[in-house]
Amino acid sequence: MAHRIALLPGDGIGPEITVPTVDLLNRLGDFSFEQHLFGGISIDANGIAMTPEVEAACQSADAVLLAAVGGPRWDTTDPSRPRPEQGLLGLRKALGLYANLRPVRPLSALYDASPLKREIIAGTDLLVVRELTGGVYFGRRGRDGDTAYDTMTYSVGEIERIARTAFRAARAKVTSVDKANVLESSRLWREVVVRIHAEEFPQIELEHVLVDNAAMQLISNPSSFEVIVTENLFGDILSDEAAMLTGSIGLLPSASLGGDGPGLFEPVHGSAPDIAGKGIANPLAMFLSAALLLRHGFAMEAEALAVESAVDRALADGLRTGDLGGSATTDEAARAVLNNL
Ligand code: NAD
Repeated sequence: MAHRIALLPGDGIGPEITVPTVDLLNRLGDFSFEQHLFGGISIDANGIAMTPEVEAACQSADAVLLAAVGGPRWDTTDPSRPRPEQGLLGLRKALGLYANLRPVRPLSALYDASPLKREIIAGTDLLVVRELTGGVYFGRRGRDGDTAYDTMTYSVGEIERIARTAFRAARAKVTSVDKANVLESSRLWREVVVRIHAEEFPQIELEHVLVDNAAMQLISNPSSFEVIVTENLFGDILSDEAAMLTGSIGLLPSASLGGDGPGLFEPVHGSAPDIAGKGIANPLAMFLSAALLLRHGFAMEAEALAVESAVDRALADGLRTGDLGGSATTDEAARAVLNNL
């Protein structure tokens, strides 16, 4: 039976990069696509960023592929007005997505786009696994007189499941990042990661690095990492730091995984309203998000690798869209990759 993919093109360049991605996936397997309004375009049609029908359709799909949402048309500081991002937050919650995966793999053809020296980034191929539904962003917070507080809370169960996600994604090594010399939640984090490692994944190497040291090593020695697993706030900061190693936002995919339900796969970039409708958006982050969908959503590793190597080869052959300093159109970029499949 065909794998069912809920397709959310969203706003801005979203629809332009979705069309060739469907084409790409159709060459690699048997998929059925159901497309839905999501984000700003759903606000225009329905008054909210995600209708209950779309939420239910995503929950019952095998995977969700999202391009991007938002744009100046829906920007508002009025808290009573709907905003496109509400769709994203609602969807993450509805799908119970507790793990965010961001691969960072600078390509040799693009080493000079990185702000770091070639010899430092060479050989970097890492994955940041960020816990997404716990920690200080979800803990108790408030004001008490002239004091404000936010609480970092983690349970054993929350740490166990994210640790398993990281160990499963690793070939040889996991680096668990915490602040166990100061934070009690980090001491629990380390205890649980050590236990899950010993009981279930002893063949994988485990190392612990304090978050401040990890921030330095990501810049000084990024190729020493394979899989980094960390809590929500640390992961938010470190994944953006790691993203800069590649030097281009147009190339970064992400996957968000939950328990048994469908995962959500999307590029890291936004809806790029400044270039929307011009046919010049870079579709490669969306293609690489489709590769993550194949790998983590459907265990189609060979097909995922085929997409990644087709992208690598197109770039090595000189493909450059505007964001990479070239002039290739979305169509030309898509064709360059499809020809290499
Ligand atoms: P952005 O990522 O949309 O754009 C930043 C810059 O990168 C722009 O110059 C844009 O043209 C360029 N860019 C981004 N993706 C590109 C691509 N695929 N090809 C070529 N160039 C690309 O970030 P922004 O400008 O801060 O935000 C624009 C809108 O997107 C806002 O409404 C924001 O809220 C929304 N947004 C959505 C998501 C999401 O859907 N997950 C993420 C970030 C921002």
